[in-house]
Amino acid sequence: ELREVTKAYADPRGAGTVRAMDAVSLRIDEGGFFALLGPSGCGKTTTLRSIAGFEQPDSGAVLIRGRPVQGIPPFHRPVNTVFQDYALFPHMSVLQNVMFGLKMAKVPAREARRRAEEALELVHLPHVGARRPSQLSGGQRQRVALARALVNRPAVLLLDEPLGALDLKLRKAMQFELKRMQQQVGITFVFVTHDQEEAMAMADHIAVMDRGRVLQVGTPAEIYEHPVNRFVADFIGETNFLEGTLEASGPVGHFRLADGRTLPVVLGAAAPTSGPATLAVRPERIRLTRATHGTGAGGVRLAARVTEVHYLGTDTRYHLVSGSATLSVRQPNTGGQLGAEGRFAPGDEVVAWWQPDG
Ligand code: ADP
Ligand code: MG
Repeated sequence: ELREVTKAYADPRGAGTVRAMDAVSLRIDEGGFFALLGPSGCGKTTTLRSIAGFEQPDSGAVLIRGRPVQGIPPFHRPVNTVFQDYALFPHMSVLQNVMFGLKMAKVPAREARRRAEEALELVHLPHVGARRPSQLSGGQRQRVALARALVNRPAVLLLDEPLGALDLKLRKAMQFELKRMQQQVGITFVFVTHDQEEAMAMADHIAVMDRGRVLQVGTPAEIYEHPVNRFVADFIGETNFLEGTLEASGPVGHFRLADGRTLPVVLGAAAPTSGPATLAVRPERIRLTRATHGTGAGGVRLAARVTEVHYLGTDTRYHLVSGSATLSVRQPNTGGQLGAEGRFAPGDEVVAWWQPDG
């Protein structure tokens, strides 16, 4: 748990200070997979380092299993860290690397060896104990670093962009692996990434950070479907933003675009009152039909023209112009079922429609 943790650094470019953490409060469930997500420089690493004990907060408190850890040095906290660059000892064998922490903790050699071998099995690397790190691939080194961090069963494992150095295919495979390992060992994982897809794929809960502040904490679905503000909506996935004026009256209302057209909207609990506002619509929520076809029940209907088509395999992305607005739309490519109705070309006149929700 972090309670109002603030940490400022002297600005390396000269005047003033940078608030790397600005009153950060978080409750991280024991045994869960928690992601800290945000753009570069938003304070993710500083947050991890404060939990690990490498940084002392200027104010606020860090608690692990309910106990304040202020003043406890990193080595004595029930926490281990996996760094992006692995930080393995090059002159030691893989097994010695994994055993290192146990040796420091004075675990008897035979016991240490058994546990190190177990950890290497957990990360699916049982036969490389005798090798040097330089004789392994990048993905294998990553696994050794994990085995080393898990071997003494910390309460919390901190992972700072651990997959950043791997190529895309390996990274996807490791995402599944990490999730499997976390479920197998039941240790709390706090995983830092700037990659929203990675956070969504792996975490049970995500904290979205920007400029030292936590903007939203929730499940991947909560954050994707109910972002608290424009930054979160923009950072997680892709979103169309339409500028206009909200005319609210209770749970429903109207949204007037700059070109005068009005759209029905359903207002969530956090929606603003009447006045200038931004309407956000995910590209996959929008359906397209030929102008001549009906769209079924109610909802929003906007006449539009297709300007660009990008075929992406699993789906197709369309860019549309509709009055003063531009829209990005994603339609799944479901094979033959769609027929001519499902495919559009630049210049086509279409109706973009969606069902509003809060
Ligand atoms: P992230 O991991 O999200 O990229 P960091 O926690 O590394 O972000 O950094 C947050 C902010 O604090 C950045 O503006 C960064 O430049 C600054 N910062 C981090 N560490 C230091 C430091 N040791 N000295 C000065 N500024 C720092
Ligand atoms: Mg970082």
